[in-house]
Amino acid sequence: MLPVELIREIIFCYVDDATPEKPTGLVHPHLSHVWFEDRSKAYSQSFSSLSLVSKVFREIALQAWFQTFAVRRPKVHLTGLSTIPGVAQWTRVVHWVNPASVKLGLLLGHFSSRRGLMAFIRLRKLRIDAFPSDHSHILLEMFEELPLTVVELELRYLEWPSPQQLVPAATLLPNLRVLDMHQEHAWCSLCNTCNVLRLKDDPVSITYTNGDGLPKLYNRYLAPLSHLRTVRLSAAYTLDLSVGVGLQDLKTPWRGECGECTSLHLTDESFVSDWEAKNKEEPHPPSLCEVTWTFALDQEEESSDSERPRDIENEYEDDFWMEVDHDDSDNDSGDSGASGDEN
Ligand SMILES: [Zn+2]
Repeated sequence: MLPVELIREIIFCYVDDATPEKPTGLVHPHLSHVWFEDRSKAYSQSFSSLSLVSKVFREIALQAWFQTFAVRRPKVHLTGLSTIPGVAQWTRVVHWVNPASVKLGLLLGHFSSRRGLMAFIRLRKLRIDAFPSDHSHILLEMFEELPLTVVELELRYLEWPSPQQLVPAATLLPNLRVLDMHQEHAWCSLCNTCNVLRLKDDPVSITYTNGDGLPKLYNRYLAPLSHLRTVRLSAAYTLDLSVGVGLQDLKTPWRGECGECTSLHLTDESFVSDWEAKNKEEPHPPSLCEVTWTFALDQEEESSDSERPRDIENEYEDDFWMEVDHDDSDNDSGDSGASGDEN
């Protein structure tokens, strides 16, 4: 028999390998032309045989699997935490999956679990997926309190990201070190909108290592986060030769400005000197040392079929409720909702 420590390492590696890779798409799977599944943890079937070997194997396999806890139905998942003792202590990452709309979120308890994550006393990372069918900017506002152990926040699929969404981070996540934001649109500090990023050629990833690189208002709202060191942002772009500018051509830092403002203003030397002065005046997160922008070609450009499926919101809503009904019938037969495949 191998030492328990070695078995533990093997099982953790096995579950890690079975976890799907993160998607590179910036559009929510339910609004995307190209269907993909964005799971943050392995399917339970992929390791269930391990858990049958022995009591030791079972406990280690469950520990490895519950490192990430996905919350799709807070009323069920957070209430059922005690079904498997130890889950709250094992979890390091919570993936908060919002349903299609705020209306469904209300029904499923997404707004009535405001202190629900406080049970995860070793939580390191919180990932929140936006409501795909609502332009709602409500994300962190859903929580009244979060564990102070959280040092990483990932926000995905915001249709219209606004710097205002990050205001609660200063009080909810005072120890935040890493912020990831992955969505189609970037916030343009010049026109104060989330406009399309139209460029004449494909941009390459940009990394700032001097604390620069954030849109002006992001700097302002994130400035109270004294431990924030790394921010990673993604944006989609479209190719448009009429724009006449690429990010590589600019002689000034690009901080998420839209295609039009980049083309009109960031190429104007007299404008740029004033703009740089205004950016320097803005308070910055004091420990910020790395800001990275990555880019993905807009799906409309990539897809030959540019028509999105009609009524996709309703289709998703129907699918969602079918899933809930299915799970409810499982529960009626004695199975715990919290021990389903999602968690
Ligand atoms: Zn703009």
